[in-house]
Amino acid sequence: MTAATTPPGVHPATEPTLFERSRPGRGSARQPQAVDVDATLADLPPSLRRSRLPVLPEVAEPTLMRHFVRLSQRNHSIDSGFYPLGSCTMKYNPKVHDEIAALPAFARMHPLAPASAWQGLLELLLELQHAIAELAGLPEVTLSPAAGAHGEFTGLLLMRAWHRERVARGEVDAEPMHVLVPDTAHGTNPATVRMAGLRTHSIPTDERGGMDLDAVREACATLDIAGLMLTNPNTLGLLDEHILDIAEVVHGAGGLLYYDGANLNAIMGRTRPGDMGFDIVHVNVHKTLSTPHGGGGPGAGPVAVAQRLAHLLPRPRIVRAADGTVELDRDPAGSIGPVSRHLGNVGVLVRAWAYVVTHGRDGLRRSSELAVVNANYLLELVRDVLPPAFDRRCMHEFVVSGATVRRDSGVRALDIAKRLMDHGVHPPTMYFPLVVEEALMIEPTETETRETLDEFAAALRAVVEEAQADPATLHAAPLTTVVRRLDEARSVREPRLVAREVAADITPADAD
Ligand SMILES: *Cc1c(COP(=O)(O)O)cnc(C)c1O
Repeated sequence: MTAATTPPGVHPATEPTLFERSRPGRGSARQPQAVDVDATLADLPPSLRRSRLPVLPEVAEPTLMRHFVRLSQRNHSIDSGFYPLGSCTMKYNPKVHDEIAALPAFARMHPLAPASAWQGLLELLLELQHAIAELAGLPEVTLSPAAGAHGEFTGLLLMRAWHRERVARGEVDAEPMHVLVPDTAHGTNPATVRMAGLRTHSIPTDERGGMDLDAVREACATLDIAGLMLTNPNTLGLLDEHILDIAEVVHGAGGLLYYDGANLNAIMGRTRPGDMGFDIVHVNVHKTLSTPHGGGGPGAGPVAVAQRLAHLLPRPRIVRAADGTVELDRDPAGSIGPVSRHLGNVGVLVRAWAYVVTHGRDGLRRSSELAVVNANYLLELVRDVLPPAFDRRCMHEFVVSGATVRRDSGVRALDIAKRLMDHGVHPPTMYFPLVVEEALMIEPTETETRETLDEFAAALRAVVEEAQADPATLHAAPLTTVVRRLDEARSVREPRLVAREVAADITPADAD
């Protein structure tokens, strides 16, 4: 076994699967038998019984525990190091939020229990709806979508439903099909437009890093405009200086404005998408209102809308009844229908509520202030070695370009990012937005101390100096991590998602 040949404290390069460690008859669970399992099984109708036991690994509890702890130690996490992954907002998550979400009255509530049995949780969700409405500057909210991209999809279904109503009322002849999306947009925006059955019209970025206003005007004069999707501040970390003009032009053409509020960290409590003219907003609570979301989940993407769209929101709606209790309206007239099971990702929503109430109004304002101050502080520390793509004050994040480093040394943004791992830092977002050559997108978040920012800046400067002196090391980085540089393109083109030997043993009958 690997454990015998590996020095203590050093992780073997390959962690065996639990199936590979399995020995017949080993087990972990010793629990008092609260129910008579055999008798319960005998009560089950034969059609629901398995013909064979499922194939599960048989391992002792310490083996199980060490396996998962070792795997967790191989990952970089916000609890183990700085995580400046731009656009994704990896802020530190206070543990008290997890404790609140784990309270049995929240975590163990059954979604089909009568509303009278979970008034506390429903009251909490109603409060969160109000908080999100307040942050968005729009009156009505659904908490159902389970991610940012899901919120976008919900939002565009609302946009389409609204235009269809206008067609039905005879206000327009046909449903408009084009959505304006800047070329800096997050990839989910054009993907969502497509999924909603609409067409993307890309708008170029002007020399100040915003949407080209003339291109917006021209598109609105020549195309049938369903709406526009915009992140503001955008993915360059810059506020669009023309947003009020853009809103006027798009509204004038009959379109709606959709705000991709994956990230409200720069504006929370200071300005609101609704006040900028937006009609539909989604908020990634897992980026703005804490919630651990490494590795792709979990999240929630509540959507706020203007009053004229409120009747279209997904069902069920959480509403205050005449008698003062909170209830679920399961069949509101006009709704586009359900977009998720039950009420969405409730555990994540409880954490978001906890973030809002522990910060309060002033605390939320202070968070966005610190997010912006931290980003600008860091930008000043690194701009002479990696210049910003657009030379303006940034908001909660900024994008620098490694184009000069690449020209001088052959070292790419990818190599710089990988070498940062040897300094104990998660790589920044790379090659996004697409309009910046050798882009590195850095978001420090409001939760980091000045010392951490200083250390990161020193690490980044050291790596850029090393690029000139020793490019070969950078091409090979990371050198000190458990897993060295991965072939990312190949892992996408030839994914192998099933454990090696075990795969052959699992027949379809076992797998069901
Ligand atoms: C993260 C992000 C999204 C997508 O959110 P998910 O929760 O990952 O689906 C959309 N837009 C922007 C700008 C983002 O940063």
